Amino acid sequence: MNLFELIEERNHEEVVFFSDRESGLRAIVAIHDTTLGPALGGCRMYPYSSTEEALQDVLRLSRGMTYKAAVAGLNLGGGKSVIIGDPKKHKNEILFRAFGRFVQGLGARYITAEDVGTSVMDMEWVRMETRYVTGISRALGGSGDPSPVTALGTYRGLKACAEKAFGTQSLKGVRVAVQGLGHVGYYLVRHLHDEGAKLIVNDVDPERVKRVVNEFGAEAVDGDKIYSVDADVFAPCALGAIVNDKTIPQFKFKVIAGAANNQLAEEDKHGQQLLERKIVYAPDYVINAGGLINVYNELEGYNQEKALSQAKSIYDIVKNIIDLSEKENIPTHVASNKLAEERINNVGRIKHTYVNKPETVMRRLEN
Ligand code: NAD
Repeated sequence: MNLFELIEERNHEEVVFFSDRESGLRAIVAIHDTTLGPALGGCRMYPYSSTEEALQDVLRLSRGMTYKAAVAGLNLGGGKSVIIGDPKKHKNEILFRAFGRFVQGLGARYITAEDVGTSVMDMEWVRMETRYVTGISRALGGSGDPSPVTALGTYRGLKACAEKAFGTQSLKGVRVAVQGLGHVGYYLVRHLHDEGAKLIVNDVDPERVKRVVNEFGAEAVDGDKIYSVDADVFAPCALGAIVNDKTIPQFKFKVIAGAANNQLAEEDKHGQQLLERKIVYAPDYVINAGGLINVYNELEGYNQEKALSQAKSIYDIVKNIIDLSEKENIPTHVASNKLAEERINNVGRIKHTYVNKPETVMRRLEN
């Protein structure tokens, strides 16, 4: 493994390895790009089988954060961190406080948050050592659960896709299949129900299904049947890789717009297939950016009204992406990457004007 080549391959600015003998912490922080502002991205804890596997993951995920923040119009760069360890066995206060001290040492170039394998409580330990952490509880002045904001953004993005596919803003009578009725899925279903959409739902947890059937009159279907139901829109809110060789031939949907991460099993191949089948696809990292918008607002003194109103603009962002995809006959995920790169390049040229310079954020968070 040639470390420098690996880092240069995707244009990362900085990769830092941390180790703390006392707590057993082994962590990597990858800062991909800080053109737009400090690199923000969650801290993932996972029992990686090798350092290389952890490094590859943090390089990939941090680059994704650069694109997500850029296309959402935020003054944030892209970063991510990984802690090598089993979240079921190796979590404790000493470990996360050691991680917090390391993050503090990066001086606002990287801001962390919870992610797969870490929780709000872990981030509260991190906060004992650094202010460069977001996604903490409302009680501590943080933004708390991001799901209502993510769901609102997803709903707005779904509307933009539906308008393109069906030629009308209204979702009244539109049949929407929702997979996953957890934090985001439940709020999304509520928005859709309020607008008169017809709901077909599915979750592995029967209690969650029962709740939306009772509250919103949704129709429930079992397991993989969700991929072949007769619906206009598919809103995946549970699993990744659900757009794949097996599911695409079953789709009757004209729109795919949901909050789940990494929906395309193979990005280029399956993105292209959706384009060829004229299925309007809202790129996952764009439509689910409400969560990032929510923690971004924490940096400025959290106000949920403001976060919600910013999340509503996902409608316009998705619309622009679909327009570019149509104009250039490219898959929507390629169109959104293009828009993100364009913004970074344009702002990069006027770098001196950006508001989220690490020094500014540092002052704001420390006061
Ligand atoms: P969650 O864990 O609260 O809900 C997921 C739901 O999916 C659960 O009810 C679970 O029972 C269900 N599920 C799991 N496997 C399933 C299967 N095979 N078939 C059907 N249902 C299944 O998670 P969430 O916070 O609602 O997030 C949903 C998705 O959105 C995830 O992919 C997450 O990464 C993504 N996301 C969430 C946020 C956020 O703000 N919560 C932000 C960005 C992206």
